[in-house]
Amino acid sequence: MSSTIKEALRRASFCLKQAGYGNHSGEAEALLIASLGVTRAWLYAHGEEKPEAAELRHYFAWVARRIAGEPYAYLVGEKEFMSLSFLVTPVVLIPRPETELLVETAVREFAGRENLRILDVGTGSGAVAISIAVLLPKSEVVAVDISPAVLNVATQNAARHNVTDRVRFLAGDLYAPVSRERFDAVVSNPPYISSTDIETLQRDVKVYEPHLALNGGPDGLDFYRRLTAELDALAALPALLLFEVGYGQAEAVADLCCAAGYKNISRLNDLAGIPRIVLAKPAGKA
Ligand code: GLN
Repeated sequence: MSSTIKEALRRASFCLKQAGYGNHSGEAEALLIASLGVTRAWLYAHGEEKPEAAELRHYFAWVARRIAGEPYAYLVGEKEFMSLSFLVTPVVLIPRPETELLVETAVREFAGRENLRILDVGTGSGAVAISIAVLLPKSEVVAVDISPAVLNVATQNAARHNVTDRVRFLAGDLYAPVSRERFDAVVSNPPYISSTDIETLQRDVKVYEPHLALNGGPDGLDFYRRLTAELDALAALPALLLFEVGYGQAEAVADLCCAAGYKNISRLNDLAGIPRIVLAKPAGKA
């Protein structure tokens, strides 16, 4: 197989188009940039060059996997979140843009505060916990996940962003690893897709992303029930609960927060206008 960069791009773009990808030329280009480990500028300046056969094989193997539905982020092993680059492998959910609102809200609520202790439940890649630690340099974050495999990825991400000394990762079920500890806030983007909706998810998500991070039980609300009902495992009620929620779940989650003693509850919409974040405080103005 011998072809120039331009020809390889054209062929990959055509294959992706045939497979129904809307942004086929953009994807073909991004995959080649990541596969060769070059910049876009380099690619444009070297369109007539012929990569090594092994480089082309590697590239077209990625194109084939992408056509089969494998998410782009797993192929390249990275995803940008809050302008930070996170290592992702198939054991972790790929960080979503709407989850940035969870981090932005935490940062807005706590900007300028010192001695903060924040708990992230179900941390996955660590994207939320680590971004919070980066953006709130006076905070200490504890990040819990039931899966030791994801904590391995999250730990590497903390090192990547130089917050190893302020983010502690613990394996375990919800509050079990932090019982009797005190936190200013609990943040969580728990699994919230209902077991029946899992079947209707886009193929990329359904086949390739970890169901452990998606499946929220029969109505998708299992983890919010536990996150609110089990708060007495902690030393005191946190001053703030901050949850990402799925489509149509905000009211139910607000009710659960209310039942746990949180009387001031706000909902924040994502860029698509969908209530995405539930923010709860015990009393006063939320
Ligand atoms: N936002 C993810 C999706 O729609 C779900 C994430 C979650 O369950 N927390 O695929």
